[in-house]
Amino acid sequence: MTDDGTHLDVTPGSVLILGGTGEARELAALLTESGIPVVSSLAGRVANPRLPSGPVRIGGFGGVSGLAEWLHTASIRAVVDATHPFAARITANAADATQLASVPLLRLLRPAWQPDAGDQWESVADLDAAALALDGRSERVLLTTGRQDVSRFAHVSNAWFLIRVVDPPLGPLPPLHEILRSRGPYHLAAEDELLRSNRIDTLITKNSGGPLTQPKLDAARANGVRVIMVERPQEPSHTPTVATADAARRWVTQLDA
Ligand code: NAP
Repeated sequence: MTDDGTHLDVTPGSVLILGGTGEARELAALLTESGIPVVSSLAGRVANPRLPSGPVRIGGFGGVSGLAEWLHTASIRAVVDATHPFAARITANAADATQLASVPLLRLLRPAWQPDAGDQWESVADLDAAALALDGRSERVLLTTGRQDVSRFAHVSNAWFLIRVVDPPLGPLPPLHEILRSRGPYHLAAEDELLRSNRIDTLITKNSGGPLTQPKLDAARANGVRVIMVERPQEPSHTPTVATADAARRWVTQLDA
């Protein structure tokens, strides 16, 4: 593994998996098992990331031109963008860089969560809108939007926040808060207990989708907790997209057919 990719031994003709998600790790394992060479790329945001099978490079590429150059130098055969639905910049960069380098691109994107009967999520477009939506109506908030975004709530002084993060949050924090360090997957009974014991009245979450962090939504429904749902940024419109690692594996195996 390397921090800049320069000394990484990448097999020419490898598939580059842009990662940082469970689906990316699943795909790296599936392709490796099938004997298809891969290299996974992580941004380097988390101190102890869960590593996929196969070679891994860590750190940014240096924008669109840096990524296009890297694809060329490493003789990458195809790119699967399996990054998180809210990692909009790398997704846009991947679309532009693969076009520049004439390398096929697939987006692996897990489906968004949909409300069940009885759910009345308040959908907002971004984190600033989520902070506005609190509107003095929430007193005890579970905030699960990730360490990079907590500062958007720093000005909210009339609510207490339980801030759940993998690594310590970055930037200024709201005056009334407690940090809860943890990493999913989460389970319904524990999520239920967390909401009850902290007397949470509002959950703020990104619409990340996927089963690993979904139980908080079931627990919120069961406890009548208000849900402020930050909806996903727009995806580049022309990138072919699949929802599962297995479908991405099939796309890769059909590339040379
Ligand atoms: P972002 O805003 O879309 O990307 C910012 C910059 O980070 C990119 O321009 C790129 O730098 C670098 N980068 C991002 N993902 C990379 C990757 N997989 N490999 C190499 N460089 C990468 O991304 P973000 O929202 O900060 O997310 C960073 C990573 O965390 C992503 O890989 C994502 O899958 C994972 N993640 C994000 C979230 C979330 O809520 N955003 C949640 C869970 C996991 P250069 O321009 O220098 O190439």
